[in-house]
Amino acid sequence: MAKPVVAIIGRPNVGKSTLFNRLTGSQVALTEKQPGITRDRLYHEVKWAGREFILIDTGGLDLHGTGEISEGVREQVELALKEADILLFLVDARAGLTITDTEIAQVVRRANKPVILAANKVEDFKKQAGLYEFFQLGLGEPIPVSATEGLNTGDLLDQLVAALPYLPEEDKEPSLTVKVAVVGRPNVGKSSLVNALLGIERVMVSSIPGTTRDAIDIYLKKAEQQYMLVDTAGIRRRSKIDLPIEKYSVARSFKAIKRSNVVLIVIDALEEIVEQDKTIAGYADKQGKACVLVVNKWDLIKQKTLPFAEKVKQSFSFMPYAPVVFVSARTIWQIDLLFETINEVFAQGNLRIPTSSLNNLIQEATQLNLPPLRKGKRLRIFYATQNKVQPPTFLLFVNEPELMHFSYLRYLENQLRQAYGFKGTPLRFILRKRSKNNKKRYV
Ligand code: GDP
Ligand code: GDP
Repeated sequence: MAKPVVAIIGRPNVGKSTLFNRLTGSQVALTEKQPGITRDRLYHEVKWAGREFILIDTGGLDLHGTGEISEGVREQVELALKEADILLFLVDARAGLTITDTEIAQVVRRANKPVILAANKVEDFKKQAGLYEFFQLGLGEPIPVSATEGLNTGDLLDQLVAALPYLPEEDKEPSLTVKVAVVGRPNVGKSSLVNALLGIERVMVSSIPGTTRDAIDIYLKKAEQQYMLVDTAGIRRRSKIDLPIEKYSVARSFKAIKRSNVVLIVIDALEEIVEQDKTIAGYADKQGKACVLVVNKWDLIKQKTLPFAEKVKQSFSFMPYAPVVFVSARTIWQIDLLFETINEVFAQGNLRIPTSSLNNLIQEATQLNLPPLRKGKRLRIFYATQNKVQPPTFLLFVNEPELMHFSYLRYLENQLRQAYGFKGTPLRFILRKRSKNNKKRYV
């Protein structure tokens, strides 16, 4: 079942972020006293009463605002309106009904989506008389809640969940979420790249200090494919002065890599490739993740890409399968190509080779180039089968696993790649001893 999307909307300062935090049970969104503050559109999964949905916190809706921030915020809400299956429209019971609320209600009604109206900042449930004016919005009875105290939020969730649509099952297959980790050293442009992937300024890069929170995963959809950008909080951490940060950022990258199925290893076209880049990439390889080497900031380089790509390939020679993609997060150059490459390596990591084709290939390969001989004994491969994807993993049943040579495994890997590609994904081989009297025998 595909997960429906619920967007919290409402004018600034009604408590959307606070409610988002309350409902998602974590302190991920920013809360600031100052109204109209720039905020990201944040996403989080919520489970309630056996249903799951994705909750979005929009930055606020300032229909009267002029200037960049409110324009940006407004754009975010429009996007949220487009993406959401249900709207959770929040008003402030203390402030009472405002013109902006009325205007938002109009926008909301035009969106033609189910709406749950909630009135926030109700800490005293005896004083509910003030709620009646919200009936004027024409959206039914408001549910009183207190986001800060967590009052009545269970009821709110009950009503939300009851209104959730059941999204069709067939949604699931094509939109298996691709979990993308964007990793690399500080300053290579990870945060800018996340923005570029999301679309221009959909996530505002915040300059507010201390905006680091727990892991924030951002969901996005492009051409019917759903993606999750893993731990964008880790990416967008701003403080670059602390010394332990390098170490910390590697640890954080490792965590993000673990949770992902496609890793974008971002390098800065202006910088040398250093050990830390290789450490991160090496970890992705070990974890069996599909990888793309992303050379960012190409807008600043006036060279041909090919020699540079060769250099990158050389530096990451332990992962020759990883494609190199040149982009500019700043000018949004080749971001579509990057999406295509993400899809491609994801698909290749999920490739399954039918057992018969696999065995034919191994048979031919072993005839073409005999397996290694050690102390007069030759390796025999009796049978092969693929038992896993992500990464594709092959079980080889052999006479003596110790007879296998690293170079011969690499030969087999190359044969497999020649036949099937497996672009961007590492491959695994597991050797099993099998008795000689098995009928299947190629060498
Ligand atoms: P947003 O701009 O709509 O996301 O609003 P925020 O979540 O940033 O909250 C705005 C202000 O309202 C903050 O000072 C919050 O502490 C306060 N606030 C949020 N929820 C409640 C609530 O349930 N009760 C009270 N009394 N204050 C709240
Ligand atoms: P992060 O630390 O890896 O998240 O890097 P940021 O996204 O914060 O970017 C670091 C710096 O590089 C910022 O000053 C960005 O404006 C700049 N930057 C990021 N991507 C590009 C790009 O594609 N081209 C250029 N010219 N600058 C970029």
